[in-house]
Amino acid sequence: MLIEVTHLSLVYPTGTVPALYDLNFEVGEGTLLSILGPSGCGKTTALRAIAGFERPQRGEIRIGGRTVCSPEQWVPPEHRGVGMVFQDYALFPHLTVAENIAFGLRRETRSPSSPVVVDTIKLVGLKGMELRYPHELSGGQQQRVALARALAPKPIVILLDEPFSNLDPDMRGQMREEVQEILHRTGTTAILVTHDHDEAFAMADRIAVLNSGRLEQLDTPEAIYHTPSTPFVANFVGQADFLPGRVLNGKIQTEVGLFENVGGHRSGTDVDIMIRPDDVHIAPASPGGAQIVGRLFRGSENLYTILLPSGQHLHSSEPSTTVFPVGTTVDIKVIATHIVLFPRQ
Ligand code: ADP
Repeated sequence: MLIEVTHLSLVYPTGTVPALYDLNFEVGEGTLLSILGPSGCGKTTALRAIAGFERPQRGEIRIGGRTVCSPEQWVPPEHRGVGMVFQDYALFPHLTVAENIAFGLRRETRSPSSPVVVDTIKLVGLKGMELRYPHELSGGQQQRVALARALAPKPIVILLDEPFSNLDPDMRGQMREEVQEILHRTGTTAILVTHDHDEAFAMADRIAVLNSGRLEQLDTPEAIYHTPSTPFVANFVGQADFLPGRVLNGKIQTEVGLFENVGGHRSGTDVDIMIRPDDVHIAPASPGGAQIVGRLFRGSENLYTILLPSGQHLHSSEPSTTVFPVGTTVDIKVIATHIVLFPRQ
């Protein structure tokens, strides 16, 4: 593994609780790991610890097989072989595109006309803009400069801290694709910090979900979405409802039908079954046991809120063109490809 983080714990001098607690993860060469979680969960702290801007009290970080941080060892940021791309790009306003990109290079190659600068400018699609200053560039172009500056010294790993949050939504999607393509093409290993699960899903090979400084789950995007290992992850990465159920006769009995007892919970166990709106199908029925109490038009889909006879709410995602008025009574069919159960606490 190119990056190995083991038992990392960090408490800020003014902090009362750890910003990171016993964090463990690895990143394979040429892959992208996304650190995902809500604001304040420790994402930036984790990235800064890897970069060498924060010193954890416990644990070890290895980059490219070399220990860069442990109780006995400390390698300063400039010798770790990491490239950073910051949220605000942090370009030097008084330097041109080419000079910004040359900035991080070793003295002998630190010229705006050096081959590595020329190649990197071509790589990120900024040919012809070498002499422009940052204020003469669009947000997307500025981001390409920031990426080029991080890539030019050929780092072992690129660390991206919420790099798309300053772009408008259209540009964000395009830049995600471009950055991902450039990272793939150059075989670059990367860690992307984001609070946006769509961004993590779109870009990551694996996702580490953090909650209050702790790792909740480390998995592929598909597994994080379909088989979340905790209710926190289930809620954080998409709309999720939790229906109460009970194990009886080898099945989970719920208000909306029977489900497989995945995990073989003992008879009589009370569980919550996670249901995603994409697994819930509704059809008007009179008089149905359930009723539509809300519709949210989201462009590509309609998200319906359904009131069950018990008073519990459930959500259903229907095609954009399937429009039922609020108040319609419906039958519900849940076709879940992945059953996720959490024993009731
Ligand atoms: P995220 O990037 O997920 O929003 P951070 O890593 O910035 O989270 O912060 C994690 C926790 O550490 C938060 O509770 C935050 O308030 C705290 N924190 C971050 N930086 C400092 C600091 N320099 N001093 C004290 N506490 C900090």
